[in-house]
Amino acid sequence: MDLISIVVPCYNEQEVLPLFYDRITQVLNAISGIDYEVLLVNDGSKDKTLSIMREYANKDKHIKYISFSRNFGKEPAMLAGLQNAKGDYIVILDADLQHPPELIPQMYETVKDGEYDCVGTRRLDRASEPPIRSWFAKKFYKIINRISQTEIIDGAHDYRFMTRQMVDAILAMPEYNRFSKGIFSWVGFKTKYIELKNVERAAGSTSWSFWKLFLYAIDGIVAFSTAPLMLSVLFGFVFCIIGFLGTLFAIIDKIVSLYSWLPYLSKHAFGVLLISVMCLIGGLIMLFMGITSIYISKIYMEAKARPVFIIRESNIDR
Ligand code: UDP
Ligand code: MG
Repeated sequence: MDLISIVVPCYNEQEVLPLFYDRITQVLNAISGIDYEVLLVNDGSKDKTLSIMREYANKDKHIKYISFSRNFGKEPAMLAGLQNAKGDYIVILDADLQHPPELIPQMYETVKDGEYDCVGTRRLDRASEPPIRSWFAKKFYKIINRISQTEIIDGAHDYRFMTRQMVDAILAMPEYNRFSKGIFSWVGFKTKYIELKNVERAAGSTSWSFWKLFLYAIDGIVAFSTAPLMLSVLFGFVFCIIGFLGTLFAIIDKIVSLYSWLPYLSKHAFGVLLISVMCLIGGLIMLFMGITSIYISKIYMEAKARPVFIIRESNIDR
């Protein structure tokens, strides 16, 4: 019998948790031939979330809970859930019912067929979002996909159904700053995306402010790209070239009056030379800082201690 683990990060979800419990239990009980566990992770809620979890855990043996000592954020909550899930298949979804549990049977069928290792969800459109937020979101996906080798799927939700194998691969990534949207892609495996209509929160309110999302986007860029560190090499290079050419022209001008057709430059030849030399020195400093950055970026990637590869299939016994 397959065991399905449901991982649910919860932060101040007292209003929605009873509704969630009813919906998820109904859906899971209707799938034949499986057993399930629901792992509720209380991420330092300040309301009655924890006592509701305890109450459900007491009356229903499928319900497990983990409660953090304070609010650590959704990423740590998802990680704690994945680490403690015992299932052959693992689902991550939000407590607020924006991720309809009714999709689970269909996801289970798809993954069980064997062709896919994961079923993910992505949004149909950003119509219901404030325009400024969707503008930033679009820009974010554009930038990160340009500068990172890992594809970050535009509009992918954290709602996904995964095999044990894929979750083990995710858990083999010990990095501290976790950006799941990147991690899910980085580990590879075949993912089928289904489109999800935007659903309003069943109750309660979102805990993501614009600022929190902005910082999360920066986290994502820093976790999956070292391109910002390389900027210094680029600028250094450009300034070096400008400075070098300026200095060179100033010297030639001394000999053959190169600037004679540009009266302004010829009048201020010494100033131009000074600026060029400053550009050259500044550029050299930036260039060498950039070279240091290249080493730092390598140390950074090594420090993440990610697996060098992940095997999906082999006929060698390990
Ligand atoms: N969440 C969490 N820790 C946090 C913030 C949110 O575990 O610090 C959980 C929250 O309880 C919910 C999910 O993450 O189950 C998504 O949060 P929310 O619905 O507030 O975000 P949105 O759907 O607006 O992106
Ligand atoms: Mg939500």
